[in-house]
Amino acid sequence: MTEQEYIQARRNEPWREELRKTVKAKERGERARVHMPELDPNYRSHSLKDEVNLGLSVEQAVFEAGRCLDCANPTCMEGCPVGIHIPSFIKNIERGNFLEAAKVLKETSALPAVCGRVCPQEKQCESKCIYIQKMKKEPVAIGYLERFAADYERESGKMSLPELAPANNIKIAVIGSGPAGLSFAGDMAKKGYDVIVFEALHEIGGVLKYGIPEFRLPNEIVDVEINVLRKMGVKFINNCIVGKTISHEDLHEDGFKGIFAASGAGLPNFMNIPGENLIGVMSSNEFLTRVNLMDASNPESDTPVQKGKKVAIIGAGNTAMDAVRTAKRLGAERAMVVYRRSEEEMPARIEEVKHAKEEGIEFYTLHNPIRYEGDENGRVQRMQLQKMELGEPDASGRRKPVPIEGATEWFDVDEVIVSVGVSPNPLIPSTFKGLEITKWGTIVVDQETMRSALPDVYAGGDIVRGGATVILAMGDGRKAAAAMDKALKGE
Ligand SMILES: Cc1cc2nc3c(=O)[nH]c(=O)nc-3n(C[C@H](O)[C@H](O)[C@H](O)COP(=O)(O)OP(=O)(O)OC[C@H]3O[C@@H](n4cnc5c(N)ncnc54)[C@H](O)[C@@H]3O)c2cc1C
Repeated sequence: MTEQEYIQARRNEPWREELRKTVKAKERGERARVHMPELDPNYRSHSLKDEVNLGLSVEQAVFEAGRCLDCANPTCMEGCPVGIHIPSFIKNIERGNFLEAAKVLKETSALPAVCGRVCPQEKQCESKCIYIQKMKKEPVAIGYLERFAADYERESGKMSLPELAPANNIKIAVIGSGPAGLSFAGDMAKKGYDVIVFEALHEIGGVLKYGIPEFRLPNEIVDVEINVLRKMGVKFINNCIVGKTISHEDLHEDGFKGIFAASGAGLPNFMNIPGENLIGVMSSNEFLTRVNLMDASNPESDTPVQKGKKVAIIGAGNTAMDAVRTAKRLGAERAMVVYRRSEEEMPARIEEVKHAKEEGIEFYTLHNPIRYEGDENGRVQRMQLQKMELGEPDASGRRKPVPIEGATEWFDVDEVIVSVGVSPNPLIPSTFKGLEITKWGTIVVDQETMRSALPDVYAGGDIVRGGATVILAMGDGRKAAAAMDKALKGE
């Protein structure tokens, strides 16, 4: 696609309306933040594959980039765990140097098109923008611009590769191909190492593939960024469970000089309340993995998923939003989020909550399930919710939900998806003898280097943090790569 064609394509509906608003705002001399063009909620709430956010038009991106004040001390960068030079990529967009902007992103991030879509920017870079810090205005839309530059480069067909150091033929193993593993692999490949990523599943990408649905993050986008790593020399071996298919000792015997454990936290938590083992009650991990990776929305597939009509999702993180919006897309007439605190405490990205509401998802905040009951076939039929109120802040700093005595309600449901957190995958912690493990099953590392108690094993992402975010996992990968490189060079 030529630049002209790209610009033309983005002048069609629904970009036109947003563009009109942007031009008007500019004429009035306003500097309001642009809005992301989106698919119509009525249409999108029936489509599993169509991406909800459509990306900024060229005009919107250049306008938004012009809002960035190019601060002498860019505080936004403090909020980016992978250290993207934010003003530099944004000012390239303002000047129309879109490919150069993408290059800046790729200096420090292996997954810019992914992060531009799923990072909680409101808690990271954008929360540190001078507009919000000092002027009480809306921050520059750093995430939207990141996505714009990465998408522009991909759609132009002129994908650049980061500079690579000469090959040093030192073999490095990565366990897990989620954002932590991919980010680490990219940095080590840049430094000249021979990197092999071992992945237990048949698909590469970790949660980016098995968890986050395509209406939020299309697989094609993830694959393009993984292919850049392939072109940089990173090798991927799927269907290989480290700790089972091959052991720590095998990796040593095969000559691997360093190992990065990035095996994530894919073990779902349950609430251990009566009725949780009824048919139709499942974890969000199971539900999303089956739909995303096993074609389970197709009744002809080997393991089709039940398509509930009255579906309750327990929890209010990103995973819960993905599950409830997927259930809606599979045909739920009533899809509801049940959350024990108030909307303010919801851990999900603000945009996901907004999108869910627009799509007709019902929210029962300050409610908590206490039991499920089934029909004569053992299938879930109804749930009892306990009404809650907020008390004093707990250890997480959020106000603690407290049951209101005697205040309960029953709701009819035919499917319940439990999304109340995850625990680390236990295989690496249990089979790599000598690792130090916390009581939550996470691997203990030195915070500066990500090095574990085993000198050749570094770890990062959810296996260390126990369920965090894409960008924090990527930041860990970068930190570990820098430290492992130094250690291997004897510095
Ligand atoms: C549904 C869902 C939605 C989310 N949405 C967001 C969001 O919008 N924004 C955000 O920032 N974060 C989001 N998160 C959280 C984020 O995705 C995770 O924090 C992040 O993926 C962690 O990265 P990771 O690389 O540590 O682990 P993962 O992404 O979990 O990857 C670990 C990989 O290791 C593999 N593996 C495990 N054990 C082995 C083994 N023994 N051998 C070989 N391979 C192994 C697994 O199969 C997996 O592919 C979401 C999470 C979920 C589940």
